[in-house]
Amino acid sequence: MKAAPFEYTRAASLAEACELLARHGDSAKLIAGGQSLVPMMAMRLLRPAWLVDINEIAAMKFVRIEKDVARIGACTRQSVVERDADLAARVPLLRQALAWVGHAQTRNRGTIGGSLAHADPSAELPLAAQVLQARAVLRSKKGARTLEAGQFLAGPMSTAARSDECLEEIHWPVWSERRTGSAFTEVAERHGDFAMVSAAAQVALDAEGRCTRAALGLGGVGGTPLAFPKLAASLTGATLRDDAIEAIASDAAKETEPGNDLHATADYRRHLARVLAGRALREARDRAMAA
Ligand SMILES: Cc1cc2nc3c(=O)[nH]c(=O)nc-3n(C[C@H](O)[C@H](O)[C@H](O)COP(=O)(O)OP(=O)(O)OC[C@H]3O[C@@H](n4cnc5c(N)ncnc54)[C@H](O)[C@@H]3O)c2cc1C
Repeated sequence: MKAAPFEYTRAASLAEACELLARHGDSAKLIAGGQSLVPMMAMRLLRPAWLVDINEIAAMKFVRIEKDVARIGACTRQSVVERDADLAARVPLLRQALAWVGHAQTRNRGTIGGSLAHADPSAELPLAAQVLQARAVLRSKKGARTLEAGQFLAGPMSTAARSDECLEEIHWPVWSERRTGSAFTEVAERHGDFAMVSAAAQVALDAEGRCTRAALGLGGVGGTPLAFPKLAASLTGATLRDDAIEAIASDAAKETEPGNDLHATADYRRHLARVLAGRALREARDRAMAA
């Protein structure tokens, strides 16, 4: 099937993109890497009357690492972020998550902002954003506002962005603790497919090996990726023994509400959630111990 007819316009600046969105309203869609939008248009799941291309906006492509935050322009390609060694040192979960996203070819075109705006509940970057409590900066003709990932990701394939807003940049918190480790893991039918279930964790340890901070999340088991801040906080002060980790992983899995579909039953997804949450926490702990 081919996409329904549409008008195409290329924005030269973010201000122009916002102007075009304000003018065309709900009938317009931004196109970044096109890796999700184009298949959806080809299947006629989406029929925008206007496509506003933001690929040429250089000001939306950057990685800037500041003291406690890494700022990434929404149009930065996933492959650029994946190869950035400084970023991998400061926000290691991003590179770990990207290793599971599609294929090298899709990451060469797909953007960080496009993945977050697409808001697939099984996608890796929205899960990483939830776990790290990343912030999304949204821009419209009226100005800018910033939303936490948990507010921005509103539901399956749905965000809190208004139709006149463009995701401008994403702020990823940098954990300053020297002994920090993170991990991302998932089960998919084939490598490069969307995850059936995914898990991400990050922990920081003190010199004695006690947890000073922890974060945990699961993807593919709800309408949005889920974070478990209260469960993760309960690890603070503890030495992260395997039995403590298993207990948290089991509690996290119990809080999920996965659905049944062609790929997996809800019970199997909940089982994967427990196994993968435990695996992610153990790997994160081991990396923090080795740091
Ligand atoms: C074969 C294949 C396998 C894939 N496997 C995976 C996978 O395993 N995991 C995974 O996470 N993804 C996967 N993807 C999707 C891929 O990661 C996409 O790149 C990503 O979801 C969308 O990024 P994009 O830049 O291509 O956005 P586009 O497809 O251009 O846009 C996606 C949506 O975001 C909106 N949008 C884009 N940029 C902005 C912005 N700055 N502000 C507001 N809205 C915006 C668009 O209007 C559209 O609604 C796969 C894709 C393919 C083709």
